[in-house]
Parts: sequence; structure tokens; C-alpha cells
Amino acid sequence: MGKYFRGLGFVLILIISVIITGCSHQTVSSSAELTATMTPFQPQVPASATPTTTPPPTPTPLPTEETETPEEHPQFAPQELGPGEVTVPILLYHHVSDTLQTQYSVTTSALDEQMNWLYQNGYQTITVTELAHLIREGGTAPGRPVIITFDDGWLDLYENAYPILRKYGFQGTAYIVANAVNAQGNLSAEQLKELIDQGWEIGSHGLNHVDLTKSDGWQEEITASKAYLEKVLGIEILTFAYPYGVADIGVMNYTFSAGYTSAVGLGSTATHSRSTLYYLSRMEVKSWHGLDFFEEIMPWSDKKGSPVSESP
Ligand SMILES: [Zn+2]
Repeated sequence: MGKYFRGLGFVLILIISVIITGCSHQTVSSSAELTATMTPFQPQVPASATPTTTPPPTPTPLPTEETETPEEHPQFAPQELGPGEVTVPILLYHHVSDTLQTQYSVTTSALDEQMNWLYQNGYQTITVTELAHLIREGGTAPGRPVIITFDDGWLDLYENAYPILRKYGFQGTAYIVANAVNAQGNLSAEQLKELIDQGWEIGSHGLNHVDLTKSDGWQEEITASKAYLEKVLGIEILTFAYPYGVADIGVMNYTFSAGYTSAVGLGSTATHSRSTLYYLSRMEVKSWHGLDFFEEIMPWSDKKGSPVSESP
């Protein structure tokens, strides 16, 4: 029975998340999205089948002129999390630009304000693969962990978002459309390698950014994008983001079989578990969101007066 309720809860979360967050880019018909999310996902992920994870690289020190660190901020003692249910908010951004006018673009000043909010509230970034590891095996995490993801691999990630995150000592997870690497307006392989050197995680967002539940050759989108990014970047690609946040049980199971240790979609919760490893909930930050949105969605903030333990 417990399994049944968990499955039912997952379906509800998917449906609610589709209703709340909608979809990036072109609109996909809502009936298709709902169909895609109607089937409860039964994870086939025995602990023994956990694919090996490569430890994230240690960020190399930056030149001093770039490490203009903002003032004092609270720090919280590390916590032991998992295995099993783990609370880590995952944010989703697309464009960061002062010229693009779309709901999927936040301005540089808005991103700076939001990153400063995280910093002032004692958040520290981890990657999606680190979260997957916490869910499977448990481990030590920052007192207030957060994951910051960027989809599609736009050049403005490198030009606008990356310097802002760096200012606060944050690293993101970038989901890249494999066939767009080095294309005009997109990240180059060299830029991606720089992000990796600075502790960012790179995940796959497919070969061509198509709806995997409706496209011929969807399996290749999942496997060939992994192989290509691994070849071009020289690292293991362990996490996948479903284009438009759309997946069904076949797509999710195939993503597991293809060797990914996690996959992300859309959602409204910051709490994850083994049953959501292949549809981790990401909360999308849109152009109109202010800090009140952060106060609302983030599990810890000073205003909420959560019990905290100060680090020594
Ligand atoms: Zn996308």
C-alpha cells in the first residue's frame, strides 16, 4: 500500500507541477503533457546498481580581482542527509540577459539579487549528481544546500550568469543540447570545459531538444547526447534534463538504463526521494519573480526563523 500511495503522490506532483510551471520554449499541448505524466514511475534502481560517480573537480582558485566576495554572511554547520528523502531546492533558469524580453529570461540584476539572497541566507551549492548520491547513499551536505540549474546552454550563461554565481562562490549544473555546442549563441566546448574546471556539473538536454514522448529516435537523443558530450568534454555525463520537462515511464526507465544516475523535470517541491530520482522537481525562476518568490519556495530563510546551528 505504501508503494501505491507514493506512486500516487508522484503522479499528483507531476500533474501539479505541469499545471503550475507549464513548459519552456514553445508550448506543448497540455493534454500531451498530462498524458506524459499520468503513468506512475516505478524506479528500477536497486542500490547495488548505482552507477559509479566521479567526484566533482575541486574549483581552481580565481585571480584575486575576480574574487570580490560580498560581505559577511551566515554559515551553517554541515548536515547528514539521506539515504532516502532529501530536501534540496533545485532552481531552474534559462536565459540571463538584459536585452531579451521573455518569461524565460531574468536580468543580470535580478539574478544578482537572487544569488545574494541565497548567499545572505547561508545557502551553498551542490550539483544534481551530488543530490542523487545523497538520495542513494546518504552523506554530508551543506547546512542549507541549493542546486542552481541552467537549461539549453545559451551563451548568456557564460557571459552573464557564470560571473554572478562565481562572485558568491556558487557552482551550477548546466544542461546542454549536444548538437548546439559551438553553435552561434550557444556555449562552446572550451567555455563548458572552463565551467567544469570551476566545479560546475554538465548534464545532457538531448541532441536536438525534442519532446521525447513524441519523437522517433528518442532513445538516441538520450544515449547519443551522452556519448557526444563525454567525447567532446572528456568527462562522464551522469544527469539528464527532459526537454520541456516532458517524460513518460518508458523515457524515464530508458534514461536509467542509458547510465544516467538522475534526471530532472519540472515541479514545485524541494523534497526528493528514490522514487523521483528520474524526475527530480525543479522550480523555474521566471522573469517576473522577485525575492518574495524565494521566500516562498525556499525551505530555509532567516525570515522563517528555521532552527539553525551556527558553525563554529
Ligand atoms: Zn530546454
